[in-house]
Amino acid sequence: MKILVAVKRVIDYNVKIRVKADHSDVDLTNVKMAMNPFCEIAVEEAVRLKESGEVTEIVVVTVGPKAAQEQLRTALALGADRAIHVETDARVDSLAVAKLLKSVIDDEQPGLTILGKQAIDTDNNQTGQMLAALTGLGQGTFASKVDVKDGTVDVTREIDGGLQTVSLTLPAVVTTDLRLNEPRYAKLPDIMKAKKKPLDTKTPEELGVDIASWVSLVQVETPAERKGGIKVGSVDELVDKLKNEAKVIA
Ligand code: AMP
Repeated sequence: MKILVAVKRVIDYNVKIRVKADHSDVDLTNVKMAMNPFCEIAVEEAVRLKESGEVTEIVVVTVGPKAAQEQLRTALALGADRAIHVETDARVDSLAVAKLLKSVIDDEQPGLTILGKQAIDTDNNQTGQMLAALTGLGQGTFASKVDVKDGTVDVTREIDGGLQTVSLTLPAVVTTDLRLNEPRYAKLPDIMKAKKKPLDTKTPEELGVDIASWVSLVQVETPAERKGGIKVGSVDELVDKLKNEAKVIA
């Protein structure tokens, strides 16, 4: 079975976000970029499925600028077999990404497509769901366990207050949650080998997809600065402050 993994280039999760002076967007100048953490989990799961013999080929795909090829090379170093770069410098919203991924699925016919549950830059949490709707495939979102059997995949999902297991007929779409696995690091020899693995570049036009956005970004604000805390000397002082200063108790 072939597996398709969608990976997104985002700001590294350790970086403190800066907003542009005109508040039009996040400032990406000289900022360290990385693979979205949930996509790393998706790549790791695909590699584990290949190691267990369920999967024969791993194809990774990204939509983004030329620099996003760095994240494809990382995925190739982690164990993906080949990569597809849908190149665009435009701001692509989730629906456009889902349409592009559908077109790649139509070409590649993977048995399973794995995405992250959420990209940590825009926090949309909707591309996998939109992709499932556009393709008419079953979806198992927020997966904390993925079990591929004959023609089906059982997905254990993290839901409020517990776990739910759904069984999907393949082909299907799965999105990863944090506890699905712990991604490995790429080894130096694999990073070198990844440079020679196949990487195809396509444009949205070649895939026949109009990526015009239906959503425009209006404004970006940093969170309000938090005031420092104070130490109170006694329970009575605390109660007094809660009553008379914070006015949160009567
Ligand atoms: P989102 O719905 O934007 O929060 O993203 C959820 C998941 O969709 C990500 O973890 C990726 O697997 C996939 N995805 C979103 N944007 C892209 C992109 N530009 N290229 C490839 N995959 C993407």
